[in-house]
Amino acid sequence: MTAQTLDSLLAEGVTGRRVLVRSDLNVPLDGDVVTDDGRIRASLPVLEKLARAGARVLVVAHLGRPKGAPEPRFSLAPVARRMAELTEVPVAFASDLVGEDARSHSDRMSEGSILLLENVRFDPRETSSEEGDRRALAGELADLTARGGAYVDDAFGAVHRRHASVADITAELPSYQGDLVRDELQVLRRLTEAPQRPYTVVLGGSKVSDKLAVIENLMTRADALLVGGGMVFTFLRARGYGIGRSLVEEDEVETVRGFMQEAQRLGCRLILPTDIVMAAEFSDGAEHEVLPVDALETGTHGDQALGLDIGPESAARFAKEIVDSNTVFWNGPMGVFELEPFSHGTAAVARALTETDGFTVVGGGDSAAAVRGLGFDEAGFGHISTGGGASLEYLEGRALPGIDALNS
Ligand code: ADP
Ligand code: MG
Repeated sequence: MTAQTLDSLLAEGVTGRRVLVRSDLNVPLDGDVVTDDGRIRASLPVLEKLARAGARVLVVAHLGRPKGAPEPRFSLAPVARRMAELTEVPVAFASDLVGEDARSHSDRMSEGSILLLENVRFDPRETSSEEGDRRALAGELADLTARGGAYVDDAFGAVHRRHASVADITAELPSYQGDLVRDELQVLRRLTEAPQRPYTVVLGGSKVSDKLAVIENLMTRADALLVGGGMVFTFLRARGYGIGRSLVEEDEVETVRGFMQEAQRLGCRLILPTDIVMAAEFSDGAEHEVLPVDALETGTHGDQALGLDIGPESAARFAKEIVDSNTVFWNGPMGVFELEPFSHGTAAVARALTETDGFTVVGGGDSAAAVRGLGFDEAGFGHISTGGGASLEYLEGRALPGIDALNS
């Protein structure tokens, strides 16, 4: 069965009903200030549609990776404050998820308002591997909606997780696909069903082991795979080069060596940087220099240096590959873009995406934040996805528990 849409829920009528929406509000914070509110702004249209139709909108979301217990630094309170600034709809915040505060707020809330519940990952049952735990939490979440409740999944960034608020909840409430999830799937289908070739995938970022796992699969689909970010150094190790103190997955060096042979067999061009910006330390003011990949330990700081960005020669090469492509998917910054001296590789890739005539998709929270933070106009990209891991898993052809749950 295909999922029911938000429009079909609105057509049923939601006035006075409590609708539980799973949103993706996993935003970067500096203390208690939201430093990039992209995901909040992206989530608001669905919440506002429901509120304006008279629903009582309960929002479930996670932030960061707390270990199943409350941790103040992962509280969604700053997100509720920012959300209230961005919308005319009244926004309240419950200091727990399914506890006394959530229940009393939910009882009292008026039609056409939003109640954001505290971080769902403060409850260990959310991510439990025991189905019984997750079902119990899903039941308690559903109880908050009382009679006439409904569930809308609008958190594309979490659909690859078999979590209570993503997958198990659909057994408890009539369930609908939010507009963000619908739009994301439409775009990703375009990348998998018949991508216009050449199709180039650009991978970077710091979740090295997660991303190494997807390379093998993407190699079978893409014409070229450009590798930057922290992943690069595991590849350079596989070539036998010294990498100083750069990020590396020593356990994966052998696997990566296999990828390089496999890419050749498949005719996928696996393109690695030829130069790297090596720094004395992980800081804004760190001394740094550009070195060729086969001589990374020969600089001023020898084997104590760490690679924090792709070099200018690599950036130009990557940009040319991107401009010459008809379809580009990019996930993961090329370097530590948060620090200006190491943001140039990421900026070059982002600029090339805005320059190519091809269809471009940016996936990944940090990649999307980089695009905005470096001052690019979002309109210059075909699509900016809110879900990094989820979009990668979709592109790999893996089943997504959140999507399957909506479809069953
Ligand atoms: P996304 O959220 O787009 O999927 P990731 O979360 O995998 O991306 O990675 C983003 C992070 O990767 C950024 O914070 C960036 O600073 C970091 N990063 C990129 N290149 C390097 C590098 N060479 N060494 C350490 N960290 C890096
Ligand atoms: Mg990230």
